[in-house]
Amino acid sequence: VKNLKEKLAKTNSNFMGKITETVKKRKVVDEEMLAEIEEILLSCDTGIEMTDIILTRFKEQLKKDKVTDPEIAQIYLTDVMRDILLAENEETPDFFAEPQAKPYVVVFVGVNGTGKTTTIGKVAYKFNQMGKKVLIVAGDTFRAAAIEQIAIWAERAGVPIVRSQPDSDPAAIIYDGVHSALARGYDVVLIDTAGRQHTKDNLMKELTKIERTIQKLIPDAPHEVILVVDATTGQNAVSQAHNFDKAMKLTGIALTKYDGTSKGGIIFNLKYNLQLPVKLLGVGEGIEDLLPFKAVPFVKAFFE
Ligand code: GDP
Repeated sequence: VKNLKEKLAKTNSNFMGKITETVKKRKVVDEEMLAEIEEILLSCDTGIEMTDIILTRFKEQLKKDKVTDPEIAQIYLTDVMRDILLAENEETPDFFAEPQAKPYVVVFVGVNGTGKTTTIGKVAYKFNQMGKKVLIVAGDTFRAAAIEQIAIWAERAGVPIVRSQPDSDPAAIIYDGVHSALARGYDVVLIDTAGRQHTKDNLMKELTKIERTIQKLIPDAPHEVILVVDATTGQNAVSQAHNFDKAMKLTGIALTKYDGTSKGGIIFNLKYNLQLPVKLLGVGEGIEDLLPFKAVPFVKAFFE
């Protein structure tokens, strides 16, 4: 958790730090303070609806307990936010728990630049460290550079990769990958998919085809479909998630670049808008800079 606290330092100091500033400025809770808190939540990408929920609950509690001291009010505010993050999320199993299927098939989707390749590399490394036999499938055949990039990460992670020529059919290479994972007893298969800005129809068709291809070999796969979103892109992250979820049923979110954002409220926003758990948190460019998201330690590091 100490490490986590360090990684969250930037987000934390911007987010909670601003709230502390507002609190320190005054002797009693007043309308202006509440307005400032609202503004901070909004500017940190918490989203309109979520900000509204937080503030409504916060004000109710202050009224109920007749709180006028700003510092005590701040404790109430963090409690409200903590409760929101903890509700439901507590039950989310650790992404790196013992895989429940063999091979355990994970598909990664997301637009270019969000950190999809990096995240797959980090996940491969972590499973490999756990002693799992991991295979990466370079299903983003759209750009030659994407294939090269993921091959570099596979090497870093110390795991093999199945790849094809640029522009070949992604479903064909994914079929080959899953097929050989079955034949050779792999524990985990991590599948990259094209991250270009799709038109909605294309995206839908391509992902549906990929899903069907995997299911030809393993009917109950993919076991996870992880959308990679960039924490620094705010509202875009939310709309991307909506689009992808329509194309292929998502099971969770990998929220990247959380180390680099002052807008940590995005985590509340995603939670409210998608009812999807954040399962992975990217906190740096290094191979170990990925954390399975767990609400309790996160909340501890963020609020304490
Ligand atoms: P892709 O196009 O979605 O595959 O994105 P890449 O994996 O190539 O990542 C794009 C850029 O984001 C690279 O410079 C990565 O080093 C950087 N990146 C990815 N994840 C993180 C993260 O969690 N934190 C930080 N600070 N940078 C990240």
